Amino acid sequence: MAFGIYLHYPFCTNLCSYCDFYKERFSVELERDYFATLLQETELFLSEQLPQRRQVQSIYVGGGTPSLANIEFLEHWLTLIKRHLNLAPDLEFSFECNPESVSGEKLSQLQNLSMNRPVFGVQSFNRKQLALLARNHNPHHTYQAVYLANVLGFTNFGCDLIFGLPGQNSDDLARDMDQLLDLEPPHISFYQLTIEPGTPLADKVNKGKLRLPEDELMLALYRGGAERLAEAGYYRYEVSSFAKPGFECRHNQNYWEGGDYLGFGPAAHSFIGGKRLYNVSNLDEWSESIKRGQLALRVDTSGEDQRMTEAIMLGLRTSKGISRAVFSERFGRTLEERLNTEQYNLLVESGHVIPDRGHVRLSDDGLLVADEITRRLLR
Ligand code: SF4
Repeated sequence: MAFGIYLHYPFCTNLCSYCDFYKERFSVELERDYFATLLQETELFLSEQLPQRRQVQSIYVGGGTPSLANIEFLEHWLTLIKRHLNLAPDLEFSFECNPESVSGEKLSQLQNLSMNRPVFGVQSFNRKQLALLARNHNPHHTYQAVYLANVLGFTNFGCDLIFGLPGQNSDDLARDMDQLLDLEPPHISFYQLTIEPGTPLADKVNKGKLRLPEDELMLALYRGGAERLAEAGYYRYEVSSFAKPGFECRHNQNYWEGGDYLGFGPAAHSFIGGKRLYNVSNLDEWSESIKRGQLALRVDTSGEDQRMTEAIMLGLRTSKGISRAVFSERFGRTLEERLNTEQYNLLVESGHVIPDRGHVRLSDDGLLVADEITRRLLR
């Protein structure tokens, strides 16, 4: 079973209008304190939760805006990780980068720390739509960031693109796609904008100041985008994840397959030995607890049924689907026992669900409405 490490870097200089990830406004002092606490957390966490020395197949640094991070501090943390764990020779080391905070020097320093997979938060090339999202970058920053990644010889990198933006139509998306494909990223996350309650964007949508595409257009945007990516040689291995063959994100695949991972930093999640753990989503609380010598962890007490539900939800979003054998081995029950038989039969008949050699997966049409199908199957 693979094993991954996630680090949540919780600082941003700019707060985007749609974002509900845990983050604080960047300050040099807060960042210094965060990294000092992170070293303590890492020592505590590894001794309490992972006494044995394991091999790490993937590291993913997300945020927040990790590309703001002080490289010297980051290096100290990685040194500590290497003291306790073995890094696989073919380690996948992803690092989220906001295009405006990327420089050749920073990418090269990260490369020296064995980071080998920058992930650029492109989101759109349309200046008006970037402004609606309150992103801090423009298309020029994106071109520059990807250019630098190429110059430095990164053979693997990803770009994130959002669809379903307020006022977006098929032509807007086609233009975004054209510009993205020109950059030839080996991996593309193509995901739908979600309106998170409490965000400035939700407020505007609720007050009718902005309108999202209707459901039918939303579906057409996804379908059109996915077809375009397929034509360009990208393989959809999960509803929102498209890769050139061999460039799938192994870190995420491990999440979806129920593999172990440890998460460090406020708001990070872990899954280890069948237990799901959450760090508090509050920098002060996280930091105070660790300084008292206590991890700021909450144990997820939801039962086995919730675990099964999650495994089904995540598995059906992947193109491989859910392995019946792995499911039975993990939960001691067959997959069919947990699914609504009537809905399952109907969805197989309609061609949305495909019972394949050893797997249950969704068809291309099924993947378009994966969340709805999952809801029906779990009724
Ligand atoms: S940069 Fe990323 S984490 Fe920060 S506010 Fe924007 S979307 Fe959220």
